[in-house]
Amino acid sequence: GVEIFRPMRELRSVLHQGMVGMSAAQGIYQILDEQPTVADAAARPLAAPLVPSITFEGVRFRYPGTRRTIHDGLDFQVGAGERIGLVGPSGGGKSSIVRLLLRFYDPEAGTIRLGGHDLRHLSFEQIRSMISVVSQDTFLFHGTVEDNIRMGRPDARQDEVEAAARAANIHDFVAGLPQGYGTIIGEKGVKLSGGQRQRVAIARALLRDTPILVLDEALSAVDAENEATIQQALDVLMQGRTTLVLAHRLSSVIGCDRILVLDGGQVVENGRHEVLMASGGIYAQLMAEQARESSAAEVIDAEPAAA
Ligand code: ADP
Ligand code: MG
Repeated sequence: GVEIFRPMRELRSVLHQGMVGMSAAQGIYQILDEQPTVADAAARPLAAPLVPSITFEGVRFRYPGTRRTIHDGLDFQVGAGERIGLVGPSGGGKSSIVRLLLRFYDPEAGTIRLGGHDLRHLSFEQIRSMISVVSQDTFLFHGTVEDNIRMGRPDARQDEVEAAARAANIHDFVAGLPQGYGTIIGEKGVKLSGGQRQRVAIARALLRDTPILVLDEALSAVDAENEATIQQALDVLMQGRTTLVLAHRLSSVIGCDRILVLDGGQVVENGRHEVLMASGGIYAQLMAEQARESSAAEVIDAEPAAA
């Protein structure tokens, strides 16, 4: 009994403390609805603090009770302090990599390491205290703006909350609300736009201050007007952290130290933007396609003005 309920309790505590950065409402609800399949490892003190490096070695993964293999022979490494882009088709298994990294599931085969340690030998707390996730859907609860930001670190002081909000480019907006940081948001309160929610998520992640950051389609739900402001906040957030940038849209990863292209459950290309472009493989093809699509969209946008 205990074995079965422990993961669920851990997940609740994750939910409560905002340990996953409380990003995707989608992610959180899916997780809470799922049967816990992974038991927590007993926390063993580590000889040294975990190094923020990530390794996937021959990982094979399927969601429990489903037939489709999502990853098969997935291999990659992320060194401490590296900024890695991970691109590939929608449904290709990018977000599933994050769920594996947070150990919501174990792989069927292969090993995932954090700081060189097999995830199965680390406790949920040891794993999740290293990682913050900012995704396209930010979970907000009915409460004040301040509480929603503080979720990143419940014991943060008010001035720390405000500093995080400033760095996330949301302070001016909050200061302009009727009750400032005490303004209630959510269903019965002030509604936030996609871009404002995103900045709350960034402020939370800044407060959590973990060595590893995952941006899962963090700019995909943001309109062009907000994009520059949020990109600026993300740049602050990424500073000095090992970062994984997951994106369907390739423009999000151009500046990364290295880009991994995921296809058929494996990493099929791995290199800097310039190198992948020059090699003329899948990445270069996708880039050309997306450039055509966006210039087509510009033509459509321009039409009414031209008429
Ligand atoms: P990406 O982030 O690259 O778009 P995902 O990792 O979210 O891809 O999804 C990969 C595949 O796994 C998709 O086909 C998706 O429908 C499936 N999937 C995602 N979450 C679950 C789940 N909880 N249970 C079963 N299948 C899932
Ligand atoms: Mg995804």
